[in-house]
Amino acid sequence: MTDDAAAAPICLARPLPGPDDAGATCAAARGLDGRPLHAAALKFFWGPMDSGKSTMALQMNYNHARQGRRGLVTTRIDRSLGPQVTSRIGLAHSAVEVTDDLDLRTLVRDTWAEGVRVDYLICDEASFYNVEHVEQMAELVDSYDVDVYAFGLATDFRSCLFPAAQRLFELADSVARIQIEVLCWCGREGLLNARVVGGRVVREGEQVVIGDTVDSAEVRYRVLCRRHYRSGDLGPRA
Ligand SMILES: [Zn+2]
Repeated sequence: MTDDAAAAPICLARPLPGPDDAGATCAAARGLDGRPLHAAALKFFWGPMDSGKSTMALQMNYNHARQGRRGLVTTRIDRSLGPQVTSRIGLAHSAVEVTDDLDLRTLVRDTWAEGVRVDYLICDEASFYNVEHVEQMAELVDSYDVDVYAFGLATDFRSCLFPAAQRLFELADSVARIQIEVLCWCGREGLLNARVVGGRVVREGEQVVIGDTVDSAEVRYRVLCRRHYRSGDLGPRA
């Protein structure tokens, strides 16, 4: 690479730098080999209900924050039904509720405008977002150099991909199945989310219906292996 002006790094990352950005290395600066020093990425972590996705989302937020990075946490239809991410093992973090009208790029720009850096987004319950939100995530990575870590279900109660999950599979730089196993009642690995109403597995209805995995819920979800999802067998303690 020559040392002329054309080789100077061009910063696209933070058009509205925060107050503590003074003197900081531009995130889009390039190394001697011409590659970006930091290449933002869109990563999708998926798994069935109860696989610890929200726990992992909050752990990732904690790990990044501890390294001095600043991020935003977003969610949609969290089980607490409030603007926060909660995990079944008791962790909680305030979060921005993703509505149909919310543009994730605007969210980041507005945060920058307040003088607050955004290095990454943690998007929990991402399968409930709109496809447009996933496109916005990709743009945040490519044009804003913001890392986006999305967590969510892959498939709905009919075992069909959620549209946003499908788009994440299509666009993400990396896709990883959550490694914490959820077991079906038979001991096989749980894969699919069955919706249970009145003690029976239902296969028709709205794609998103609020429920829980606790037995007392009116609409509840059970994670089943494919065999028992297909047969609708909820096991001896159904
Ligand atoms: Zn089973």
